[in-house]
Amino acid sequence: MNRHRLASELKRIFPPERLLTGNLERRMYSYDSSFLARFRNYTPDAVVLPRSTEEVAATVKLAARHGIPVIPRGAGSGETCGCLAVRGGIVVDLSSWDAIEEVDVANMQVFVRPGVVHYRLNEYLAAYGLFFPPDPGSTRMCTIGGMVANNSSGLRAVKYGTTEQYVLGLEVVLPDGQVITTGGVNCKALKNVSGLNLSKLFVGSEGILGIITRIRLRVWPRPKARGIAMAVFADLEEAPAAVLDVYRSGILPSGIEILDSSAIRAINMYNPEINLPDAEAILLFEVDGNPAGVEWEGQKIVEVVGKRAISVEWATNPGRMAELWRGRSVVAVAAARLRPDGSRIFAGEDISVPLNKVTEALRRIKELGRQYGVAVVNYGHIGDGNIHTAPVINLENPDEVERANKLADAIHRLAIELGGSTTGEHGVGAVRNQYALDEHGAAVNTMRLIKKALDPANIMNPGKLLPPEGGAGGA
Ligand SMILES: Cc1cc2nc3c(=O)[nH]c(=O)nc-3n(C[C@H](O)[C@H](O)[C@H](O)COP(=O)(O)OP(=O)(O)OC[C@H]3O[C@@H](n4cnc5c(N)ncnc54)[C@H](O)[C@@H]3O)c2cc1C
Repeated sequence: MNRHRLASELKRIFPPERLLTGNLERRMYSYDSSFLARFRNYTPDAVVLPRSTEEVAATVKLAARHGIPVIPRGAGSGETCGCLAVRGGIVVDLSSWDAIEEVDVANMQVFVRPGVVHYRLNEYLAAYGLFFPPDPGSTRMCTIGGMVANNSSGLRAVKYGTTEQYVLGLEVVLPDGQVITTGGVNCKALKNVSGLNLSKLFVGSEGILGIITRIRLRVWPRPKARGIAMAVFADLEEAPAAVLDVYRSGILPSGIEILDSSAIRAINMYNPEINLPDAEAILLFEVDGNPAGVEWEGQKIVEVVGKRAISVEWATNPGRMAELWRGRSVVAVAAARLRPDGSRIFAGEDISVPLNKVTEALRRIKELGRQYGVAVVNYGHIGDGNIHTAPVINLENPDEVERANKLADAIHRLAIELGGSTTGEHGVGAVRNQYALDEHGAAVNTMRLIKKALDPANIMNPGKLLPPEGGAGGA
């Protein structure tokens, strides 16, 4: 179907202000936060902004009738081209469908539409003394629909886990336009083992199995107290060892973050006022819970980590905690300051390795950076082995772009070699699906069977998560 015909069919479903077919408007949807999107033209044929399950279902039915790809999109903060029309088609932008429909305090759950922004949900829940624990760095941008589709997590996954642990049920529009509810049609129970766990199937499916239109999330009571310890290390290898020491002492912090020497340098260049100590690594431990427990755990961390660190500072005062955390909160932006013509790119940025391989991973990423002549800044969620590597390059230099791509490939392969994963939280999309066979082996065939059973015509977000039929390769 040509674009004009498609536009006139979609006009039957959407009012003009929620149907985008102009060249510029469509072009705006050819990006997410990925590096790859800069070099490809993934402009969709049309964009729709639904506000009801009926509108989503009608769009999918239309697409299914004509074999047109349908691409769900939240805020576009993903780093994998996941929400881009790599094979053309209709982008379904769910970001403006952002109702928090019900906070059921008695049953510790909340019902939301997919476009609710993570930060806004937690602001809203605060009035009820509740929170939704997964905590991505993109909190002020990303939508709950995007988080469910990517099984997102973040700073506090060490203690609170990932989005999947909080999804009690979903409303999903399947690739034929049929609408189902997972987790029980009328169920509000917190425990439920009835039936195949379809909620888990859709969590992390990156929009290739259906469009999530309603989400039932479990929420938790907000902890009463919080504290932060900042530890400074002269030797990079002592930092992962200190993390293991803390676990061995019986403490499970709510977050453990690392900044290596490159990250420390970038942060101090970005904002000299932050003035982090010149060191090989800094660890930030966050502890939360009841006030007495938090204080005890904080003192224990000082004692245990102090055996390896040059210095450890413990704070429970909100002002001082914010100061200690400031470097970590700006590092993603600060990375680009490593060089005057530099841009931080999202490529090879999210590997996850076993805890006892973190030291080796950090050392070898530095070596790979030197080998490919690309500056890298390393930071991330060391408590669960999830390392964020930020290559910093001049985007105008094609040779550097090529070397950065080779570096990203080498980092992904390093993660697999070390018994880890190419992605701890950002997902696969169209930038990591070429590693699926190396990571999952024959299980990729089972994933394909599930995809084919639900979407035989392959219209739902094609070119993502799974490698193309017949072997490895890009999207
Ligand atoms: C600065 C920065 C920091 C980040 N930090 C973190 C972090 O700490 N942890 C983390 O996990 N991620 C992080 N991310 C990545 C990203 O923000 C998350 O993956 C986020 O959950 C994506 O949400 P989104 O609404 O932007 O989704 P999008 O990017 O729009 O889409 C992501 C995927 O979900 C699918 N999708 C979106 N909505 C739906 C729906 N309703 N139904 C079905 N499929 C859907 C899309 O097709 C796509 O495949 C970060 C990104 C940036 C730019």
